[in-house]
Amino acid sequence: METLAGDLRRLLRGAEFSSVEILWSRTVAMPAADELASQLPGRRILDVGRRGKFLILSLSGPSYLLIHLRMSGQLRVEHGNCPPDRHARVVFHLVDGRQLIFSDTRKFGRVYWVDDPDLVVGDLGPEPLAPDFTPEALAALLSRHRGAIKPLLLNQRVLAGLGNIYTDEALFVAGLHPLRKANTLSLAESEHLYAAIRQVLLQAIDNRGTTLADARYRDAEGRPGLNVGSLRVYHRAGEPCPRCGTLIERTVVGGRGTHFCPCCQSLVDG
Ligand SMILES: [Zn+2]
Repeated sequence: METLAGDLRRLLRGAEFSSVEILWSRTVAMPAADELASQLPGRRILDVGRRGKFLILSLSGPSYLLIHLRMSGQLRVEHGNCPPDRHARVVFHLVDGRQLIFSDTRKFGRVYWVDDPDLVVGDLGPEPLAPDFTPEALAALLSRHRGAIKPLLLNQRVLAGLGNIYTDEALFVAGLHPLRKANTLSLAESEHLYAAIRQVLLQAIDNRGTTLADARYRDAEGRPGLNVGSLRVYHRAGEPCPRCGTLIERTVVGGRGTHFCPCCQSLVDG
């Protein structure tokens, strides 16, 4: 999302909406679809940012357009001559002739238009890459929870922006089993996890995101990310662990496919 936000900032800052075509009305979570279509034209995009997995377009007014891609959403900026693809749910036409297309095969993605972004993202936890998120802050947050660490890291109200791929990768780098109880980490272990989370996220941003074989993730110009070759355990079940050679295992934790090395990732303290 960080990669996509940067692309959209570069491509869209200063652009103005001319009309909105809503092809699947349930994609618009807030307000009603026809209100969005009538209110957006004439508004300019002042900036594009990210909070957790939400993209936030700051508009003139001021108001805010928030977009969550969920499982299969894609956002692309295209020149307006071509018809949008058959999975397009909302097409934002721009005065300069381009269009911002929100496509979504599975239709779980959502668009919100609000006066205050906190109406949508107000209950998200801290950003792991924010300068004020420290190892001590992570340790404090972990110590308050007894449950398994992986579902905790995926909980956006605890920590914002970590998805399934980067959680598995960070736990491997930190040498922590996904079912390890959060409040049993030593200070050294939570410091390792802090460093691992940042390393994994920064590497993914350097590689412009992760596009798996199902090819859902695309940047704003339709290109895949390059991070898949850097993944250590995610989607590598049955392959040797890059550290010790033991075969990577796959299990399900909290309903999510989970990949780990049974030798390198410790289930118990120490
Ligand atoms: Zn290993």
